[in-house]
Amino acid sequence: MATPSVEDYIKAIYKVQLEADSVSAQDIASRLIVSAAAVSKMLKRLQELRLVDHTPYQSITLTPSGQKMAMEIVRHHRLLELYLVEALGYSWDEVHIEAERLEHHISEEFEQKIDTLMGHPTRCPHGDPIPDKDGNIASVTRTTLATEPPGRLVVSRVSDADAALLRFLKSEGVFPGTDIELIEQEPFGGAFVVRLEDRIVRIAPDAARQIFVEPAGVSG
Ligand SMILES: [Zn+2]
Ligand SMILES: [Zn+2]
Repeated sequence: MATPSVEDYIKAIYKVQLEADSVSAQDIASRLIVSAAAVSKMLKRLQELRLVDHTPYQSITLTPSGQKMAMEIVRHHRLLELYLVEALGYSWDEVHIEAERLEHHISEEFEQKIDTLMGHPTRCPHGDPIPDKDGNIASVTRTTLATEPPGRLVVSRVSDADAALLRFLKSEGVFPGTDIELIEQEPFGGAFVVRLEDRIVRIAPDAARQIFVEPAGVSG
């Protein structure tokens, strides 16, 4: 991407927070593919704007206004993804990149019109929760296919950033809401063997780590 903006940094901090218990400057640098110097410069600016709290050697956190900004961008992103799939006929592996660009540019009115047109959706095509207008968002778990014991599971969401993974999942019929049964992991860190209706699908460990699941029978 071009030089990441304030909004890109705020979203990156939010995303890292979801995946890890604490957020370091290094985490942000690797996520945005920028130098440590660029991150520390931007962190100063974000603190001046009162979007971020950062005491040296402690986790970087969003202030309430930073969190509000993150929710606004995430809402744009996920509503746009849904709109691109449902209204414009994009496939689900194409929309993340488009939404990354568009999310910074749409007006509140445009956002509201998509929201209404889509019937006030709560999930993007990848299963990620869409924050409401007030910035409330459903919580997500970090449980993946790679961390669960064998048993019946429901796919809750999948990583939206890996287009090849999304094409693979689509070809196998695996979407948020799909019921699967994890049978076993093949020996020596091999594929996760999954039953999907009456078919057996083998999912590589790197892919399994990007498929978030919940035990079957639990909704949320
Ligand atoms: Zn996305
Ligand atoms: Zn998405």
